[in-house]
Amino acid sequence: MKISENCLFCAIIAGKIPSTKIYEDEYVFAFRDINPQAPTHILAVPKEHIASMNEVNAENSAFVAKIFEAIPKIAAQEGLKNGYRVISNCGPDACQTVHHLHFHILGGTQLADRMA
Ligand code: AMP
Ligand code: ZN
Repeated sequence: MKISENCLFCAIIAGKIPSTKIYEDEYVFAFRDINPQAPTHILAVPKEHIASMNEVNAENSAFVAKIFEAIPKIAAQEGLKNGYRVISNCGPDACQTVHHLHFHILGGTQLADRMA
């Protein structure tokens, strides 16, 4: 499993920085966003360090598949019966601030109809 020494989310996965974990399996770690933008705001991340969507490739895409298998379980666990939104910000135009691939899971209310 590739990790990065100077990565906030690698440190969270390793338990070196505390988080509110809500799901974990061999490939995926999910925890509450520290600055929630919806009543439910969870970050689902690969346990391997992948800097962004731009670094997804044939060697690591299984981590992304596993995240998408986990998301419905997380949504059910969180009671998001009426739906939710999944977002991944990639690069400066999308305001990516943490350079470890992550998927925001937002729900628990009626979300804005525009995404940007
Ligand atoms: P992005 O802007 O897409 O890169 O999203 C990064 C997200 O990480 C933001 O929503 C932050 O609120 C969240 N975040 C930053 N530090 C932490 C932390 N220590 N624990 C949980 N979430 C964090
Ligand atoms: Zn990382």
